[in-house]
Order: sequence, then structure tokens, then C-alpha cells
Amino acid sequence: MIYNNFFKDTNFDFDRFKFRVVGKVVYIDAYYITEDEICPACGSPHISKNGTTTKTVKHCTYHTLLFMVKCHIQRYKCKLCNNIFYEKDTFSNPKETLSKESVFIILEKLKLSNATFESVARDLHISRQNVIDVFDRYVDYSPGKLPDILSFDEKHINKNMTDNVYLFIIVDFKSIEIYDIVHSRHKNVLERYFSKIPLEDRQKVKYITMDMWETYLDIAKRYFKNAIIAIDSFHVMRMINNAMNSVRISTMQKFNLKTENIDDNHPYYYLLKKYRYYFVSEFDDLSSKRFYNRKLKMWFDKHSLLKYLLDIDPKLEKAYYLTARYREFNKTTSHEKALEEFEILLDDFYYSNLSPFFEVFKTLSTWKEYIINSFITIPDALTKPEKKNDIPKPRRLSSGAIEGINAIIDKININGNGYSNFWRFKNRVIYVINKNVPILNTPKKKTKNNI
Ligand SMILES: [Zn+2]
Repeated sequence: MIYNNFFKDTNFDFDRFKFRVVGKVVYIDAYYITEDEICPACGSPHISKNGTTTKTVKHCTYHTLLFMVKCHIQRYKCKLCNNIFYEKDTFSNPKETLSKESVFIILEKLKLSNATFESVARDLHISRQNVIDVFDRYVDYSPGKLPDILSFDEKHINKNMTDNVYLFIIVDFKSIEIYDIVHSRHKNVLERYFSKIPLEDRQKVKYITMDMWETYLDIAKRYFKNAIIAIDSFHVMRMINNAMNSVRISTMQKFNLKTENIDDNHPYYYLLKKYRYYFVSEFDDLSSKRFYNRKLKMWFDKHSLLKYLLDIDPKLEKAYYLTARYREFNKTTSHEKALEEFEILLDDFYYSNLSPFFEVFKTLSTWKEYIINSFITIPDALTKPEKKNDIPKPRRLSSGAIEGINAIIDKININGNGYSNFWRFKNRVIYVINKNVPILNTPKKKTKNNI
């Protein structure tokens, strides 16, 4: 019987109890086993009973029922020093209206990124506000020691939480955990933020990875004078892929017959649209199966199709090989060889006569030093083996880990309508992503901050 299990499973020491069931709520009157108490003030065992006090506590660890436990707590008076005290209440924390076990379960459930305050409340037959209160009072992340390798990135977020559309995220490159989230990536906000971190700590930062955003570079140079700055290679590759795409699109538009249905359009327009991923994918990753194209009434494999596509216009072919060469360079080059090879590539971008690649040339020239730094590998930060026999390798400086973190943030943001306040959102994100966010032994009082 579930009511009896309640007392067996729950680690609490009530001796006597009475209960009645009303709907899905079990009302319990519970009394502790009387133990030999001593006065907490003077240690005297000479004490007398001095009435009782009651406290009603919600216990919601069973999924089908909510228990409302009225705890009858004995009051004592010390015969020696007149101190008044209560018997030890192991069922709930002082001033807490939920049992310790319920608090624990709420916090466990909130660790999962797909849980929302609503879903946890529904599960446990308590109110959403109960869940939010527990979270706000028991979890209060504050950043610890500054890691020696940082990744800067931003996260676009819906507007009702903070006026700023971009959050600034600082990730510990080695542990792949969040160091902190700042409500904006504006320069003055970041200046205020980093100037509060002691200089001595900032001087220990060895590397910072970022994308090509002027503000981050300024901030890194000013506040982290000993740090080597590296531009995340994914962002560089994306810029080159965008240049490739704009060459493809401008070629494609020359053939555009503006038909309603793409199948009726010019074959070149159709092909350049349908197989657009050929231009930005690694050739080895494309399927090597033969296939029939109905519109052209032709059989292709990836070799013949690529040739067909590139023959449409010499500009396409040029852009394609520039992109592919950069991709190969980015994937395989060592830090020692990177500068020399990078300069050859930049030269070819410059002389390509393709304006999107000329633009890339200009940007990459500006950031050259920091792009080359991204080929540095970190011996004590190893890759996670994807397959059984993979040997972990030193990781390259990059912001790659942030992608996974961003996906989790999206999930929480989409799921949680309870985030009218940035502090709570940040707290929850870090609580979900970082492995060991401490749970407070003494919960905070309810404040303006968390209502
Ligand atoms: Zn006493």
C-alpha cells in the first residue's frame, strides 16, 4: 500500500502518524520519535516538554499522489538555562514548505535540459511557482577561478528576457563548461565585466578563441595582455563557403527563367540550386552511388556531376577549387606550416578576379595572425574518441564546443517560458550544462531577485 511505503521509503523518523485521503492528496499528521535531547545552548540533559508546534510540509516524491505532512514538533525548555528549543526536524529544512527529499527530486529533474518548471510541477503535483522557488533559492551559480583557455561567443536570444539580442558566453575550452554568461556583448558591458576580474587572474589566461568580431579582439587585447588570440576556424570556413555561395548564386541567376516550378527552369539554374551542397561539401563526404536525373535524362555519379556543374562557368570552377583548397588546408595543416600555406592561398584569393573572394582576402589578411594561431594544439586538452579505436588527439584551439552548448541553450529557451528574468535563465543554463554546480546547503531567502 502506497501510504505505508511512504513511511518505509522515505528517510524520515516519524514515529506515529494518522492519515486521510482527499482526492489525490494524502493528509498526514506525523509525530517524531522522542529521543534523549540535550539543551543545544548549555548541553544539559535536564529539560522539560514545553508544548508543540506544527508545520505543514509538501512531500511530492510519489508521482500519483501529493502528501501534505503536518509535522508535530516537540518544544523543550532547559531547566538549567531556560533556553527554548525544538526537537530536530529531519524531514524538512527550517522555513521550508517542501520536504528535503522533494527539494532534492525537483533539483534532480531540473538538471535535464528538456525539463521545464511546468513539466516538473505537473510531475510532482505542485505549483510551478513552488518549483521556481526551489530552483531560485537552492541554485546560485557564481563563476570560480578563471580558466587558462577561454572561448568567447555570442548567443542570439529572444528579446523579452533582456533588451540585448545577443548574450555573451565565456566557455572554459578544456572542460567545455560555461564560465559565465553576460547579458550583452556590447563593448561597454564587457569592459565593465572584465575590469571587475582581478588583473592577476586575467594575466594567467594563456589563450582566447573567438570569431572575427572587432569588440572581442579589443577586449582580449586590453584585459588579457598575456593571452594568445585565435580565430575559430569554423567561422573562417563559413566565410569562405559564403563567398562560394555568392559566386554560385550569381552564376545561377544568369540562367534564371523565373518559372513557377523549378523543374521548368533552365537546366543550369535547376542544377546549381538542387546540388548547391556540392560546392561547400567535402568531396569524400558526398554519396558515391550512381543516380539518374529525370530532368536531364542522364545518369551521374559524383565525379561526373561535379564536372558537369563546374563546366557551367569557369568562375564556378575557380571558386570551387579555392574553397576546396582552403578546406583541405584548414583540416590538415600543422601550425608550423600554416603561415606559409595560408599566404599562398590568400594570394590566390586576391588574384582570383572573383569579388567575393577578394572580400574574403581583405578580411582574412586583417585577421591573419589570429587565424594562424588557431592551428595551435593543446596537449592537455584531448579530443573525445568517436569510435572505439580512436586515439585521443590534442585539440586545436577553437570555439567548436560552443555549438553543443548553444543547442542546449536553445532547448531550454524554447521550453522555458518562465524566464522573464535573465539571472534565472543563466542560472538554469549553467546548472544544466556544467557538471557540478553546487546546491546550497542553506537556501537563500526569497528576494526581489527571484520572484
Ligand atoms: Zn540549557
